[in-house]
Amino acid sequence: MIPVNEPLLGDRELEYVSECIRTGWISSAGRFLEDFEEQWASFCGMKYGVAVSNGTAALQAAFGCIGLRPGDKVIMPTFTIISCAQAIVYNGGVPILVDSDPRTWCMDVEQVREKVEEEMRRGDGRLKAILPVHIYGHPVDMDPILELAGKYGLGIIEDAAEAHGAQYMTGRNTPTSRWKRCGSLGDLSVFSFYANKLVTTGEGGMVLTDDPACAEKARSLRNLCFLPNRRFYHTELGHNFRLTNVQAAIGVAQVERMEEIISRKRWMGAAYTERLRGIPGIELPVEETWARQVYWMYGIVLDEGTGLAADEFARKLKERGVETRPFFLGMHEQPVFHAMGLFRDEKYPVAERVARQGLYLPSGLALTEAQLERVCEAVVSVLRTA
Ligand SMILES: *Cc1c(COP(=O)(O)O)cnc(C)c1O
Repeated sequence: MIPVNEPLLGDRELEYVSECIRTGWISSAGRFLEDFEEQWASFCGMKYGVAVSNGTAALQAAFGCIGLRPGDKVIMPTFTIISCAQAIVYNGGVPILVDSDPRTWCMDVEQVREKVEEEMRRGDGRLKAILPVHIYGHPVDMDPILELAGKYGLGIIEDAAEAHGAQYMTGRNTPTSRWKRCGSLGDLSVFSFYANKLVTTGEGGMVLTDDPACAEKARSLRNLCFLPNRRFYHTELGHNFRLTNVQAAIGVAQVERMEEIISRKRWMGAAYTERLRGIPGIELPVEETWARQVYWMYGIVLDEGTGLAADEFARKLKERGVETRPFFLGMHEQPVFHAMGLFRDEKYPVAERVARQGLYLPSGLALTEAQLERVCEAVVSVLRTA
């Protein structure tokens, strides 16, 4: 079976983890934690990094940092992982959903504009932030979102969990256009280092920001809001979101491989596209001219005309030794939110279609060219018998 995902781990990870064990620095302090925070922030182009236990925790802390209050609203894509919506809800906020762009599957920025303007017309001052999520390695078109945020004083939290190292061209078609890393475009950004992400620490996450007060707040929320000068006296509630030095040691070794990780993913994306382009019945990932995407997962969407839905397609690929995973199911289709009275009669046709028709192919960092060819042959053969 060709697996959907494998991390790239080696001697350096082993060496750094061994150093933690040898020196006894295995808990939530140590040189690797500081190095990992500093190196990741600097790689992405932000000033401060606060390492946390996972990406879900990073989102939770980020919304804590911007001081979301009960009833505050946040615009986010319906097509994403539940971590995004629950971070808003756990902080007392209300998610406002938008559909996906049919090409990139990221949030539709025209709909973001419509929803922002609708909230502004309502004039209750409840809209506080926008949460763009770079889906499957492709950047969201950030300029229009940054402009709206500037115009109406909204915060931006970027979820770059799936877009380590991806780049966005800001100011395109102007003399000042330049490439910026995903995770350096908003007020705060969040990352996950779960085992299937480009850079992994097994479990792990990070919040990045340029604002020192915000970084301080994230550090405090991460560590139960202990006061620096009076430890067991609390003026706020926090969390235990600490990452260990052992996990950070893996992270430091991974950051040293960043160029290799990105080039392998970009090779994989190009190789799949080269072999699958032009085959009737499937839609492939795109790379917009203003984007350098990193193919966290190589997703394909089956045309409805094939008569196949993704679940059946996945079963047939499995018979041919190819493991796949389904796409996200939109937040507006989640019973847990319906039970809370959220999103009940909302419809987002693009997200609904890609959720039903989409799946991702083996995209691991250890994928060989021979395996990739076998995957493509299996895809073609299933489509032919459909
Ligand atoms: C993986 C992921 C997360 C959550 O990260 P965990 O480390 O698994 O908690 C959040 N947002 C997005 C977009 C993700 O893909």
